[in-house]
Amino acid sequence: MIGVTILGSTGSIGFNTLDVLSRHKDLFELIAITANKNVNGLLEQCLAWQPKFAVMADAGSARHLSNALEREAPDIKVLSGQDGLETVASCAETNYVMAAIVGAAGLMPTLAAAKKGKRILLANKEALVMSGKLFMDAVKENGAELLPIDSEHNAVFQCMPQDFGGRLKQSGVTRILLTASGGPFRTKTLEELKNVTPDEACAHPNWDMGRKISVDSATMMNKGLEIIEACWLFNAAVDNVEVVIHPESVVHSLVEYADGSVLAQLGNPDMRTPIAHAMAWPKRMESGVEKLNLFDITQLNFEKPDLSRFPCLRLAKQAMNRGGTATAILNAANEVAVEQFLGGLIRYTDIPGIVEKTLDNVGHEPVDSIGRVLDADKQAREYATERCREQLCP
Ligand code: NAD
Ligand code: MG
Repeated sequence: MIGVTILGSTGSIGFNTLDVLSRHKDLFELIAITANKNVNGLLEQCLAWQPKFAVMADAGSARHLSNALEREAPDIKVLSGQDGLETVASCAETNYVMAAIVGAAGLMPTLAAAKKGKRILLANKEALVMSGKLFMDAVKENGAELLPIDSEHNAVFQCMPQDFGGRLKQSGVTRILLTASGGPFRTKTLEELKNVTPDEACAHPNWDMGRKISVDSATMMNKGLEIIEACWLFNAAVDNVEVVIHPESVVHSLVEYADGSVLAQLGNPDMRTPIAHAMAWPKRMESGVEKLNLFDITQLNFEKPDLSRFPCLRLAKQAMNRGGTATAILNAANEVAVEQFLGGLIRYTDIPGIVEKTLDNVGHEPVDSIGRVLDADKQAREYATERCREQLCP
């Protein structure tokens, strides 16, 4: 049996992972599940799945969970905090780690899994955006396997030669084409964008996701983070990666080769496909996803993104080109701005400005240690929080 830990099991990716696992109980054993503050959600999953460990982000929530489990499932060990997350990401029973915590909080446990040579199913793109080369080096040096869960990167991975090994040019790859739905506001005017609400921003036309990534999809910072993610995963330069707006979300991404071939991966927009792909790789297994019916698809459209409407795309490329801790600064400023927008404190249209100011005013440095990354993250959060205060909604 393959032991699986799901970091962030109560989220959208976490749920989809459990759904895929429920179809393959003969192959996988659930070792650990984790949540931030949702005690009841994790309790329910504990009772249904009887994992060895359950981790809550804070000690108080862990105590609640432990009390609730005392009678019905006393064998489940309840842990808490970053230590707890790192323990379950790196323990001997765990073979595969689904990294599905949202944001910077997922960095250290995902890195811990890399250092122990686990198979990492990477949904938490923010971890890679923050730590880039350090993370990729930890994967290589410790013989870990890194499989992308982000649908675009999973598609690119599927379209790359099996023996790719980070050699873009030798493999004849000329471009990586990342598709983007364009989010819920693709056709809104800039004036209309000023008054959009958090719920409108989270109503994605094709994908059902957590609130932070939904807002990132609306601003297209998600695609910006994905450009950075693609550069690290596939050893590409920013100029090798192009974003293509594709409102139907059927083509999940494409790889262009020197001979003019363009390979694409298609499917219904359902995260269980990349999850099942990464869990079974190099084999294939059933995911529960409805099969794509080509006869139902009347059109597939492709457009160039309008950078004046989506400044976050430009900012992400800028951060990657600056290098060092600039991408950690970009990520932290964006996390703060999105949280403040979701809390109703700033406007949707304030998000890119806050990210840009933070990027321009918090100095970036070479990434030589994880401490340096965490410092940059902290400084950027402080700076962005101050800028948000200046923007407070009346
Ligand atoms: P979500 O908000 O639905 O779930 C997040 C999970 O992380 C929850 O289990 C939550 O309890 C946990 N969590 C949040 N903050 C935490 C903290 N401080 N400490 C510990 N745990 C914490 O998010 P999601 O949509 O499932 O996305 C998860 C990750 O996957 C994100 O990085 C996102 O960018 C990426 N991703 C998601 C999708 C998708 O379809 N949902 C697609 C591609 C990539
Ligand atoms: Mg994606």
